[in-house]
This record gives sequence, C-alpha cells and structure tokens, in this order.
Amino acid sequence: MNMDVLVSLSKRRGFVFQSSEIYGGTGSCWDYGPLGVELKNNIKRVWWRDFVQARADMVGIDASILMHPTVWKASGHLDHFTDPMVDCRECRRRFRADHVDAVAWTHYCPATKGNKFTIPAGEPCGHCGQRRTLCPECGKGELTAPRQFNLMFKTFMGPVEEDAAMTYLRPETAQAMFVNFDNVLQSMRLKLPFGIAQAGRSFRNEITPGNFIFRTREFEQMEIEFFVNPNDRVEGRPADEYWHDRWIEDCMAWFKRYGLREENLRLREHERDELAHYAKRTVDIEYNFPIGWSELMGIANRTDFDLKQHAKWSGKSLTYFDEERKEHVVPFVVEPAAGVDRALLAFMADAYREEEVRGEKRVVLRLHPELAPLKVAVLPLLKKRDDIVRAAHEIRATLARQWRVVYDDTAAIGRLYRRQDEVGTPYCVTVDVQTIGDAERGERGDGRATIRERDSMEQIRVPIPELPAVFRELLDGGAWQQVAGRYPPARG
Ligand code: ATP
Repeated sequence: MNMDVLVSLSKRRGFVFQSSEIYGGTGSCWDYGPLGVELKNNIKRVWWRDFVQARADMVGIDASILMHPTVWKASGHLDHFTDPMVDCRECRRRFRADHVDAVAWTHYCPATKGNKFTIPAGEPCGHCGQRRTLCPECGKGELTAPRQFNLMFKTFMGPVEEDAAMTYLRPETAQAMFVNFDNVLQSMRLKLPFGIAQAGRSFRNEITPGNFIFRTREFEQMEIEFFVNPNDRVEGRPADEYWHDRWIEDCMAWFKRYGLREENLRLREHERDELAHYAKRTVDIEYNFPIGWSELMGIANRTDFDLKQHAKWSGKSLTYFDEERKEHVVPFVVEPAAGVDRALLAFMADAYREEEVRGEKRVVLRLHPELAPLKVAVLPLLKKRDDIVRAAHEIRATLARQWRVVYDDTAAIGRLYRRQDEVGTPYCVTVDVQTIGDAERGERGDGRATIRERDSMEQIRVPIPELPAVFRELLDGGAWQQVAGRYPPARG
C-alpha cells in the first residue's frame, strides 16, 4: 500500500487536507476534513469507552495544554527532550545529526588530489577518514558541530515577552496525570491499582516531520497512567510487571478488535541501551505502515520516577497510603501511550482495498462500522419522483437522530455505491418504486427499503419502520448474516 494513494484519497474525499493549503501549506500540519473529523472522533470515542467508561479501575481528566514551566523541569523534558542537530552555515537548514549521516554524499578528497568520490551512507571517506562536512541539501555550506535542540515549543504567558513569562506547549499529555495524581486520588477516593486517562493535543517541534500524518508537530495523544502498588504481587509476580503485560495484551487486542490485521502488528521490546534511565521495561506496538514497520504506540513501565520527581520539585507529597501495610508508598506507573493520528493512519491503511467487481475496479475502505465516519447513506433510486425523494429524506432524518447518516442523489446508483464504499460507509439504504408504488398505475408499494452491506454487497428488503432497530443491532456489533437471514433478499 502506497502512502500517496491514501494522501490523495484523504484530500479528494474530505479526510485530511494540507493545513493553510491556499497559502502554500504549513510544514507538516494537516487539517481533518468533514469525514476525517468523524473518523478521528470515533477512534477517540471507542478508546474512551473501552478503556475508561467500561472499566471500574479507570477515570479520565482533561487538562490544560499550558502547564507550570517547572513541570517540564521536573519531568526531564527541559534538559533531555532534545535531538543533536547540525546547521548549514550557507542555507541555514537544520538537520538531525544522525540523519545527515544516513545519505550518500559527494566528497572531494584532500588526500587524493582532485579525486571526487561518492561516499556511501553511514561511512567515512576510505582515504582521508572524513565524514560529511557539507550540507546535504544545498551542497555548498559547511555543517556546524552537533548541538542539542529542544523539541518543546516555547511561548509566553501574558502580555510581556520576557524569560520569566516563558512557558511551553505540552509535548505529551502524560504529565497532567502525574501532577493531578493527588487531586484525582482524593476526590474520587480511589484504591490502587487505578489509572487516569486523557486524550488531547501535544506539540513537538520535530526536526524531521513527514510521512503525512505519521509525524507532525501538532498531534493528538491518548494516554493512560496506570498506578500500581509496587509492594503488591499478582499471580506470583510483582504487580507492576503483571499490569505491564496486561496492558500490552489489552492494547494489542484493541487494535485488532477495530480492524488491524494480525500480520500487520508486532511487539518490539526496547533494548537495555535504548530504555530511558527510569524505565524498567518498554514495549512498542509496531504497525506495518506504508513507510514500513514503525511505532504505533508505546507501553512503558516508568516505575516511581515521575511521582518522585514532581514531589521533589513541588514540595508536595505524592504518595498513597497502603491501609494493609500501614505505610505510605510511591506507586509505580505503567503508561500505555498512543497517537490518535497514527492510529487513524493505520486504520485507514489497513482498511484500504482495491477489488474487482464484475470486471470493474472497486476501492473500498473496510473500516470497522464503529469507526466508519458515515454509518448509513440513504440513496433514492429515482430522483425525479418526489415521493421517493421525500421518503429517502425522511429515513435520513429518522436515522440521523442516532448516527451520522447522509443523503445523496447526485449520480446514478452504481456511482453512489462506489462513493460510499470508498469512504467506508458500512450500509446504504435505497428507496425505489417498489417501496413507494406507482399511484398512477394503481400499484401500491411494499413499504420496504433496500439495505446494502458494504463488504458482501448483499442486499435485503426491510420494512421502513424497522430500519432504526435493524441499524441499532448492526451498528452495535450484530452480524450481518444474522440480520440478513430474517429478511428477503432484494431483487436485481
Ligand atoms: P517516535 O519515536 O515515533 O518519535 P516517541 O517514542 O517519541 O515516538 P512517545 O513519546 O512514546 O513517542 O509518544 C506516544 C505516541 O504518540 C507515539 O507512539 C505516537 O503514536 C504518538 N506520537 C509521538 N510523536 C508524534 C508525532 N510527532 N506525530 C504524531 N504522533 C506522534
């Protein structure tokens, strides 16, 4: 699957647009269009429902993006959230030091007098030992020595742009769960283990954003901080280790449940030298994106590092009283951290299929019905007939009280079906002469509409008053075959 195909479908069908496109676009910023916002909201909604609403051990928060600047000192972001960068002295472009080394370069070797070589990526010159010193873009400017560059966006709080007023746009949502730990614990009278979830925007001044919505400078995260008592044991294992594995399983199962195919998912264990110094263990869920295997989400055991850091810098106690052992403990935390935009990209990429139907190409997004931006499209078969059109509008209005439902009569039925397939609409409803009848000829209609299912393209005839109940069943996870078995198939 090619990323360009998704980018073009996204633009053409209103999923994702380049931000500020009429001004030439803003680097790596994207806007979600009418269908994209529905898909994105659906992803966040099912995540919240499955991981917060349905669980007795989870609560949620919605914190502000601007936080006290000391939060970022305590969290380590001010000192460590950096990448080594080199600048071109000529064109002023900036590159990640490790990326500069990843492309081949042309070298006029001083050791071989006038000889010009192409040095392969990652290697120094075999004669003089030099590494790339010139800019990979303009080819003229000298590169500076690597310098650390902080990925946090700076801004000013209040009317005066001075250092004292400086603050940051949050680079992750997680810190708000730590700084609100005691507020949540006390107000909700929670017992360990419990988790706090949040979905919201994060900002990182990424050096090398790109690959569509895979890596952007403004994105959304869905994060959970799950606190456990490090002195507890579950099934004979330390509680933090047990819960870490449980969360890895639960997150993996969640992505599969909403449609990602098993063969496109894998776990990647972080190596010892890759682990953050406070992390006991980190596992990434990787997805086989159009750009290759890359991180979809990370699940880390962050131990008691964050709560201890915030206790130290704020001077406030962030502990839990263990009634059984009569002692205060600092909980360990397991952090499942997912990106909404990356999840959306994965769901779209996995759902995209090109099929051949009766000698014609059909593009279909086999999105899970709960994620699909539009649940039902109502299509009149004859737009010249006012009674058919009126009945179709009425069906749309009735169903739209519960779901995102659209009406479309701007093409012939085959085209209309293809349009809905391409954006993943699981069901179409058509109203035809058979439904309404023909008064002039004295024919009475049967009062049934046709439901067409996206993947099998099967069609059944359902009495109009029964449509809401049928869609309630189907969109709540009911199997098509079960529902279809109760109604006659449509002719044609
Ligand atoms: P990467 O290694 O890809 O930069 P990360 O390990 O820094 O990601 P985390 O800090 O663990 O990412 O953030 C959790 C999740 O947030 C990631 O798994 C990803 O889904 C999402 N995410 C992080 N950075 C970005 C970004 N720049 N654009 C879009 N999503 C992002």
